[in-house]
Order: sequence, then C-alpha cells, then structure tokens
Amino acid sequence: MIKRAFVLLLALNLIFLLCACGQSESSRQVYVMDSAASLRVFPANDEAINAMCDTLFEIDRELSATNGELFEINENSGGNMPRHMAEVLSLSLKLAEKTGGAFSPCLGAVIDLWGVGSKNYVPTERELQTALRVSDVSGIELFGDEIALRGGARLSFGAIAKGYASDVMRDMLLQNGVESALISLGGNVYVHGKKPDGGMWNVAIRDPAGGANDWLGSLALSDKFVISSGDYERFFESGGKRYHHIIDPKTGAPAESDLTAVCVVGESGSAGDAYSTALYVMGREAALSFWRENGGFELVLIGRDARVTVTEGIADAFTPNEGKGYTYETAYR
Ligand code: ADP
Ligand code: MG
Repeated sequence: MIKRAFVLLLALNLIFLLCACGQSESSRQVYVMDSAASLRVFPANDEAINAMCDTLFEIDRELSATNGELFEINENSGGNMPRHMAEVLSLSLKLAEKTGGAFSPCLGAVIDLWGVGSKNYVPTERELQTALRVSDVSGIELFGDEIALRGGARLSFGAIAKGYASDVMRDMLLQNGVESALISLGGNVYVHGKKPDGGMWNVAIRDPAGGANDWLGSLALSDKFVISSGDYERFFESGGKRYHHIIDPKTGAPAESDLTAVCVVGESGSAGDAYSTALYVMGREAALSFWRENGGFELVLIGRDARVTVTEGIADAFTPNEGKGYTYETAYR
C-alpha cells in the first residue's frame, strides 16, 4: 500500500508540474485515508494548510473501517456517530437513493468479506448471499446520531469518504480566504480558483491501461472537483481471474462493467465520489442516462473498448493525449 502511495504521489507531482508557477506557496504531502494526499495553497498560508491537514486526520479517525471509529461502530453493531460520520451517512443515504442503490454505504459486510487489498479472498456463493442479506438499508436503524446495525450489517464509506473530505477542504479554503489551491486526496482532485498566473488548472486523467504516470487527456478547470473510480486501482488475481474493488450491490461481486474508469467533474466532492463508483457499476449507457437526467456534473467515461466519452459541458475543457490508442467522442444531452 505504501508503495502504491508513492507511485501515486509521483503521478500527482507530474500533474502539478503542468501548472508550475512562481508565487509563494504552502504545501504538504501526507498519507491519510489509505492514500497519498497533496495540498498546495497560493499564496503561502501555513496556518490554513496545517488546519486542513489536522481535519483530514480527524475525518480519517472517524471514517476508517479498519481502525477508526467506524470500525468500532461496525464491531459493536452500532453506537453514537461522531460529527463527520453522521454527516457522511446522511449524504450517503441520499446518494444511494439517487443512484438507485448502485452506490450504497451499507455494503460493509460484502466489502469486508472480499477484503480486496487486504485478505484478497474469493467468497463462496453461500457466504456472499449471507453478507448480501444484511447489505441494504434495512440493516440500519437511526435515532438521531445514534445508529443500530441489525443482523451483522456493516457500514462502509470507502466510495465517498475522500470526496466528502475534499468538500470539507474546499469549505476551509473559502473560510480562510485562500485564493488559489490544489488539493488531491488519493487522486480525488479539487482545483480552487485559478492558477496563481491567472490561467486554468490542468488536471490530467490517468490512462487506465498505462502506468501511474500515463494520462489519456487533461481538463482545464477552476473551482471543480475531478473524481475518478476504476477497476485498475485496487484488485487481486486468483485462479486466473481478476477481482477488483468496485462491487455491484445487486450481486455482491466485482461489477462487470463495460467501463474501466469513470471520471466525474462537478461542484461537489461527495456526490462526485459516490457517482464515480455508482456510474462504473451502471455501465456506459445507464451512466449517460443518469447524466442526462441529473444536472450539476460532467463525465469522462473510459470504456473497455478504448472509447472515451466526454460529456458536452466539459468538451471544450478536455484535451486528448493523442497516440494512446483511444478514440474520443462527445456525448450530448
Ligand atoms: P477509491 O477508493 O479508489 O477512490 P472508489 O471511490 O470507487 O475508489 O471507492 C471504492 C471503494 O468503495 C471500495 O474499495 C469499497 O470499499 C467501496 N465500494 C465498492 N463498491 C461500492 C459500491 N457499489 N457502493 C459503495 N461503496 C462501494
Ligand atoms: Mg467513489
């Protein structure tokens, strides 16, 4: 995991080089939420960036399913939720409903069973069905900030925690009057304001078929979240088969999608993160229908067929990195 972090960090540095600039800055690179995080603030503001890092660690302590307060709640089948957890759960339940359950915070039992990236276990059908039975909202009972988990239900915020944290970072940038900043939490990017030289930020989109430093295109943006999910990020192989970390809540198994990565561009980190996971599960056609029916975000969809679909709202902001073997198309409303 640590190795992965440094590789990612390298990739991010590459992205940042695209926007090198001559103004004073504060920067921090930390390992948090199981990922490499990088924060850069212009002009320099150490007080703001230190407070932001403290908050990232606070969110991690609450939401980590392996050693945080969430772990305690799952183990004890409930308890009193701290501030960020209550907020993330409330957002998650709304986003689960909106995505027709393709994103769900109630999949903890299924996710822990597979343990992609930790125990890497292929469960039996029987084990999967048992875990699936407690992996929908019926396993949750809420009394204000008090939660009860029924029949072995477990919560998981792996698909939204970093997006939520990036929303909190954006709020802190605004509260601190920061003009310009670049925040990356494990590849979930938020670009705040314009670059110090007044230009747009360039955010690279990783090529799922390439190494950590390969990208298939870039987006010129300001004040936007760019959040990606893909099957190339976390997976294991067993018996000649590949098992990745994005679960189809209908089957409890890794989603069999015609997409290999989904990148959501929008004004909300939490929604972008939940959507990037949900739209991967849905697949290309359903993802585009979801985009047409719901405003407020744009997409880059990368298909298994090497077709890249960019939605019209960001078509002008997107520059393909030609020569990578992809074909590019624009989707209209
Ligand atoms: P990343 O963590 O790499 O940013 P995602 O945002 O797509 O990727 O989140 C994937 C993680 O979310 C998985 O590792 C798992 O813990 C959890 N997860 C997997 N499938 C779902 C799903 N359908 N709904 C909600 N959470 C999921
Ligand atoms: Mg996600």
